[in-house]
Amino acid sequence: PGDEGLQKGPLVTPPPATATGVPMIAIDGISKWYGSFQVLTNCTTQVEKGEVVVVCGPSGSGKSTLIKCVNALEPFQTGQITVDGTKVKDKGTNLPKLRSRVGMVFQHFELFPHLSIIANLTLAQRKVLGRGADDAGKRGRDLLARVGLSAHADKFPGQLSGGQQQRVAIARALAMNPVVMLFDEPTSALDPEMVGEVLDVMVELARDGMTMMVVTHEMGFARKVADRVIFMDKGEIVEDAKKDDFFGKPRSERAQHFLSKIL
Ligand code: ADP
Ligand code: MG
Repeated sequence: PGDEGLQKGPLVTPPPATATGVPMIAIDGISKWYGSFQVLTNCTTQVEKGEVVVVCGPSGSGKSTLIKCVNALEPFQTGQITVDGTKVKDKGTNLPKLRSRVGMVFQHFELFPHLSIIANLTLAQRKVLGRGADDAGKRGRDLLARVGLSAHADKFPGQLSGGQQQRVAIARALAMNPVVMLFDEPTSALDPEMVGEVLDVMVELARDGMTMMVVTHEMGFARKVADRVIFMDKGEIVEDAKKDDFFGKPRSERAQHFLSKIL
């Protein structure tokens, strides 16, 4: 009801990169262990400004762990990740500032349940970016309109459907003017009839030029807007290919097998 989707415009246009001539995200030789269990093995890839990269692979292959390393929600033992010229693993890096530039959307929305929708949209703008209540509120309401949820500003998360909550979560991330957006299976907890409304918002965002790394098994989304597809298995990046090459014929047997099961 009243869902007008995400429209193009300055609100969702990512700010210019501070570093030029380098990838927006550079993942360079990342390995990570939980105790003696190696969860990531020498992962290397890059995401250019404006690129949309879909990450897929079997459950437990390390997809969530890898994207959480990008905004330092998970530490890694070896390698380096650079986001818009800032090293993730560096004593001099201001992690709250880095995280404020990397929007993240999770499977389970993770809105603050005790705060209204508009308060969800303004809290970090005020606390992290120091915006005034008026500025933060205006941006929050504008973004809520962009995801088609103007009428719900004063409700609480529990009063919204899963698809609506996930659109709020996307708007909340965008409120921080991120240079990149990370998504971890944003539609896999949703009832089937709500998947489309969330993917539509993500498609508009991709078309608006946002740099995106998206863990998803929604291959329709990948076909529509991905530039590249990464396939992970057992903590390794097994395939990293242009979309058409990936869907045309994945090089590895493991990716072929995976695709044959989900398509
Ligand atoms: P995916 O997102 O591809 O399903 P994850 O990145 O969540 O995979 O997990 C990769 C592997 O790491 C899995 O085998 C999982 O059980 C393991 N793992 C994830 N988090 C932890 C943790 N905190 N401690 C130990 N093992 C973990
Ligand atoms: Mg996962």
